Amino acid sequence: MDNQFKKMLVQRFGENLRFNEPMSAHTTLRVGGPADLFACPGTIDDLIFLLKSLHGANIPWFVLGAGSNLLVRDGGIRGLVISMRKFNNISESAGENNAVIVSAGAGSHLAGLCRYAAERGLAGMNFAVGIPGSVGGSILGNAGTAEGDMESVIRSVTLLWPCGRIETVEKNRLIFSYRSLVIKKEIKKEIKKPEGYGSNASPLLIQGDFSLVHAELGGESSEISASASTAMEKRMRLQPAGLSAGCFFKNPESGPSAGELIDRAGLKGFSIGAALVSEKHANFIVNTGGAMAADILAVAGHVRRTVRKLFNVTLFPEVIIVGEE
Ligand SMILES: Cc1cc2nc3c(=O)[nH]c(=O)nc-3n(C[C@H](O)[C@H](O)[C@H](O)COP(=O)(O)OP(=O)(O)OC[C@H]3O[C@@H](n4cnc5c(N)ncnc54)[C@H](O)[C@@H]3O)c2cc1C
Repeated sequence: MDNQFKKMLVQRFGENLRFNEPMSAHTTLRVGGPADLFACPGTIDDLIFLLKSLHGANIPWFVLGAGSNLLVRDGGIRGLVISMRKFNNISESAGENNAVIVSAGAGSHLAGLCRYAAERGLAGMNFAVGIPGSVGGSILGNAGTAEGDMESVIRSVTLLWPCGRIETVEKNRLIFSYRSLVIKKEIKKEIKKPEGYGSNASPLLIQGDFSLVHAELGGESSEISASASTAMEKRMRLQPAGLSAGCFFKNPESGPSAGELIDRAGLKGFSIGAALVSEKHANFIVNTGGAMAADILAVAGHVRRTVRKLFNVTLFPEVIIVGEE
């Protein structure tokens, strides 16, 4: 990355641009080496400027939500990390059939969106109470619980392509599945992808629109805040405290859950360095303080090998693993 390019970014972004920013400060696992560059753009114009500049200079970029489903390796991230945290506006408008359309910027916290809905008596978001992600990361990962997932409430998403094109995609053109929303493969058949963008061609999600209903009009209890508190209490009871990225592995398509397999394998309490398989929930790998990404990955590798050997089941990470070793 040449100095001229860095200077140009500093001029535009000032204190919203940092060099060698430790990713451990931006992930809930609190591990991860430095990103070469880390930017917090605050406007769509800034985002477009950034994406076009990076494309022109052939510099890779990575989009960061709340970092709650992310494991960054100890060598950090080459190129630029774009934090979406300033895109955190939440507003509402009237929808069809008494629905209320709540629009949330990709960087809004899911907790903030749940609170916004509860305060206004809007039903539908309580399944997400206690999930610590951003709206953007949670839509892309179809975050959810046994009570529901993002697919159940999403109306449309607004995408920004690296060429600067902004596109709103309605739900019927989105393909959600377990902890995933496919934009790259399926959607590109319908949406014309910008030419010449190679591996940097994925869009950024900048906004999600949610279709919610007033509790008294929907079938759901009007005690939204009360049921949100119950959901939170349940989560606190079942979920390990401490630093983690939530469930480390996806549940297999059939049979026992990943947590149950890891538990049956006797791996609760297994540790390497400060990385530990939680005693409370076997699918959580916890950083008990000062763990390296390599420790977490070593524990995950051991868990995976053991489960495969004992049950002939291959576990795949739910956590997204990025960066250099
Ligand atoms: C204690 C704990 C409990 C959890 N419980 C649950 C649970 O019950 N259910 C559940 O589903 N998950 C759970 N999780 C996992 C996590 O909270 C969710 O997966 C969350 O939705 C991730 O959102 P994020 O903003 O943190 O994404 P990040 O971790 O920041 O990013 C995840 C991926 O999305 C991409 N991304 C993020 N934002 C954008 C954007 N705007 N545009 C383009 N790409 C983007 C990133 O590049 C990355 O590939 C839990 C995590 C923790 C720590």
